[in-house]
Amino acid sequence: MRTELQNAERLRIIGNLTGVFAHEIRNPLQVTRGFLQLLNKTDLPDKEKRYIKLSIEELDHANHIIHDFLNMGKPTLDCSEDIDVGNQLGRAVNLIQNYALSKNVIIQTSIDGGCSIYGNAQKMEQFLINIMKNAIESMPSGGMMWVTCSSVDDSKVEIRVKDQGNGMSKQEVEQLGSPYYSLKESGTGLGMMVSFQIIRSFGGKLHVISEQNVGTEIIARIPKS
Ligand code: ADP
Ligand code: MG
Repeated sequence: MRTELQNAERLRIIGNLTGVFAHEIRNPLQVTRGFLQLLNKTDLPDKEKRYIKLSIEELDHANHIIHDFLNMGKPTLDCSEDIDVGNQLGRAVNLIQNYALSKNVIIQTSIDGGCSIYGNAQKMEQFLINIMKNAIESMPSGGMMWVTCSSVDDSKVEIRVKDQGNGMSKQEVEQLGSPYYSLKESGTGLGMMVSFQIIRSFGGKLHVISEQNVGTEIIARIPKS
């Protein structure tokens, strides 16, 4: 019991420190990025412009990693409430719409009413964004993404996100959720780990159906509130 408490306390402290650390690192990165962008507008030789472009890309990569760590460190305690999953899904789709359009992905949604669960709304949003972002990124030449929310057996809420992307092999599916497992050049491999944790914290389960070069479907089933 004592060690569990100690672990919880340790995790809480790490969470807080991660937040402070990430913010402190982010500011100088943003300032550096701004100056590099200014430099890039001047009359520089192409080679030097290319170096600046690479530097900006690397800074964006670092920012992306910090963003994922910040989300991981966010405290989850206390703020649980009844969440209307349909509402929240609609909002998350709005948030990601521009990103989808920029990647030529069309989003089709089907949202049923009466899908309430008990949990932390911020975490739910984070989960939805994580899996929709992965679905979009799995379709480098665009495609369809289907997003649905419905009731099953009167006792559970089911969220599905389906894509027409590059899919995963059986082994790749098994690796999902391991920290830092990523096949992307600038991925962090934290999105799925956090997603599994979030659904578990809602008392739910996450299922993955995937076929290479056909697509992937992520299904979350969560008890209704
Ligand atoms: P990241 O997106 O930073 O790589 P994630 O934890 O979100 O990290 O995902 C881990 C890996 O799982 C991805 O790099 C990708 O290889 C695979 N993956 C996740 N979702 C999908 C999907 N919808 N289609 C294909 N591969 C996926
Ligand atoms: Mg991801």
